[in-house]
Amino acid sequence: MRRSRTFIPTTKEAPSDATLPSHQFLVRGGFINQQGAGLYNYLPLGKIVLEKIRTIVKQELDKAGCNEVQLSFITPISLWDRSGRADTMGKEMLRIQDRHNNDFVLSPTNEEAMVELVKNRVTSYKDLPLNLYQINTKFRDEARPRYGLLRGREFLMKDGYSFHASKEDMIREFNLMEETYKKIFTRLGLDFRVVQADSGAIGGDGSKEFHVLADSGEDTIVVCNSCDYGANIETIFASEEEIDALNEKSYEELQSKKIDEKCSCGGELSFKKGIEVGHIFQLGNRYSHSLEANFNDENGKPKPFEMATFGIGVSRLVASVIEQNHDESGCIWTKATAPYMVNVMISNIKDEAQVALGEELYAKLQDANVEVMLDDRKDRFGFKMKDAELIGFPYTIIIGKELANENVQIFDRATKEKTEVNAANIYEKIMELM
Ligand code: ATP
Ligand code: MG
Repeated sequence: MRRSRTFIPTTKEAPSDATLPSHQFLVRGGFINQQGAGLYNYLPLGKIVLEKIRTIVKQELDKAGCNEVQLSFITPISLWDRSGRADTMGKEMLRIQDRHNNDFVLSPTNEEAMVELVKNRVTSYKDLPLNLYQINTKFRDEARPRYGLLRGREFLMKDGYSFHASKEDMIREFNLMEETYKKIFTRLGLDFRVVQADSGAIGGDGSKEFHVLADSGEDTIVVCNSCDYGANIETIFASEEEIDALNEKSYEELQSKKIDEKCSCGGELSFKKGIEVGHIFQLGNRYSHSLEANFNDENGKPKPFEMATFGIGVSRLVASVIEQNHDESGCIWTKATAPYMVNVMISNIKDEAQVALGEELYAKLQDANVEVMLDDRKDRFGFKMKDAELIGFPYTIIIGKELANENVQIFDRATKEKTEVNAANIYEKIMELM
C-alpha cells in the first residue's frame, strides 16, 4: 500500500478519556475512532489487525474440528424468555422493537440461539459431538464502557458451543479447547496465563479464563512462579469486598502484598494483573434442559445435551497486544499482528535516486508477498519517522541521504536500533529478518 493513498489519520493528541496506552495509541495511530460511548469504527489499519487475529482464531478452531456458522445478530426476546435470561441479564441486554412492536435483543452472547439451531436437527448420539462457533458482533450495554476496545459496548467475539452425549466427552472437548486457545494466544505472540475462574455452581475445573499479563489489566490473578498454576482471585477470596479491594490496587501496590501460602508444587505465588481475553466453561445441561433440546441415546432414550461454551474477545485482543507491547513512542506489534511488516520510507520525495530505490524495493517485496507500506508522502523525514514509530511497523527501511554512499538503514521498531546496510543487499537482508 502506498501511504499517500491510504487513510491513516494519525494525531499528536489522544482523546481526554484515554488513560491506557492501547486506547491512546490505537486512536492516535489512526487504527480506530470512537463513534459513541463504547462504539468504535475500524479504519484501514485497525481492520487489517482485526482480520489477522480473526484468521488465526479461525485457523486453529477449524483444525480442532469446530465448524464456523454465523447466527443472526438480532434475536427474538421469546428465546430469552424461555431460558429465563430475559430477566437475569439485566440492563446489559439491549432490547429493540420492530414496526409491529415485536421485541428483539441485540445478542450479547448466543447460547439460546445456538441450542435452538441444534434442537431437532441433531437427534441421535451418533451425530455427536458437535462444536459450532461464530465470530461476530456482540452488544452489551456495559455500565462503564471504557479503555477503548478493551471494554466496548459493541465488540467482536468468537463464541463457540459444543454438544455431547456424555459429561466425559464434554470434558474431553473442554480440554481440547484449552489446548487450542493456548495455540491461538501463543501464535499471536502474547504472554498469557490460564487461570481457574469463578464457576459459580459448577465448581472445580469447570471454568477457565485466559489472561494476557498487563499491569493495566482489570482482573487480579494469582500465579505460581515455578509451575503453570494460576487462579482468578474470585476463586480464592470469599468476600466481594476483598476481591474489589484487590482489583482496585495497581500492579505496583500488589507487589508489596506477599502471599504467605505456597503453591501445591512448592513454588512461590504472586499477584499479577490480567486482561481476560478468553473464557471456557462447562455448561452441563443448563440450556439444553430449559430449552428442551434432547438427543436419543444408545437405548433410544431422550436426554438433554451435555454442553460447553467457549469465548474469545477478538476485538479486545487488538488492544491487549498493545497493552503488552508498546513504549513511549507508540505501538509495537507482534509479528502475527502487525498490519504491515515493512515500511519503506523515502526520506526525501524530491530525490530521484531515493524514489527509484523505494519503488523498486516496494515492487520486489510485494512480489514476495511481504506486507509492505511505501511512505511516499511529501512530508518531512522527522514527521514521517514519528508516524512510523507510532503505528509500529516492525521494520522501517530508511532510504535517505546516505544513499549517496550506497547505504540505507533498517530501523527495528522493538529495539529502536538502526542498522546500516549496503543498498545492493537490502532486499536479501530484510527477507532474512522475516
Ligand atoms: P468481563 O468480565 O471482562 O466483563 P465476561 O465474563 O463478561 O468478561 P464472557 O461473557 O465470558 O465475558 O465473554 C467472552 C469474552 O468476550 C471475554 O473473555 C472477553 O474477552 C470478551 N468481552 C466480554 N465483554 C467485552 C466487552 N465489553 N468488550 C470487549 N470484549 C469483551
Ligand atoms: Mg462482562
